[in-house]
Amino acid sequence: MRPALFLDRDGVINLDHGYVYRIEDFAFVPGILERMLEAQRRGYLPVIVTNQSGIGRGYYGREDFEVLTAWMLERMREAGIEIGRSQVFYCPHTPEERCVCRKPEPGMLLEAAKRFDLDLARSWMVGDKKSDIQAAKAAGVGHTLQVVTNQPIEAKELHGL
Ligand SMILES: [Mg+2]
Repeated sequence: MRPALFLDRDGVINLDHGYVYRIEDFAFVPGILERMLEAQRRGYLPVIVTNQSGIGRGYYGREDFEVLTAWMLERMREAGIEIGRSQVFYCPHTPEERCVCRKPEPGMLLEAAKRFDLDLARSWMVGDKKSDIQAAKAAGVGHTLQVVTNQPIEAKELHGL
């Protein structure tokens, strides 16, 4: 079993300015790729868990999400990060749909744990919302870090990773 570095997307990986779905609107938060590389060197599997209610609300489609995701993953791989589409989990639902995947529900993290045989107690979750942290705790993730939206993660904040 290996631990994961669970990452929320909007506000943690990319600058969140509300319902980002186009490549031209996607900008990486400074330093995030370096943090992911460090985690990878320490044996953590990067896993992205992202609420995408913009799909359920009809602002954009699953295809838009997939195109942007493919582009984002390509940039990550260029930086040396070993990551594929199977390491990205998204919830397309609105809060009203009361699904089991939308954070603060732990569904996406539990699915990832099953898919990759993850050691959740040794895993980390980094998110910018309380719901990210709640989802992680509900899933049994041992370490959580709530960052300020769009602000770089300092290496020292991931102490013990
Ligand atoms: Mg976020």
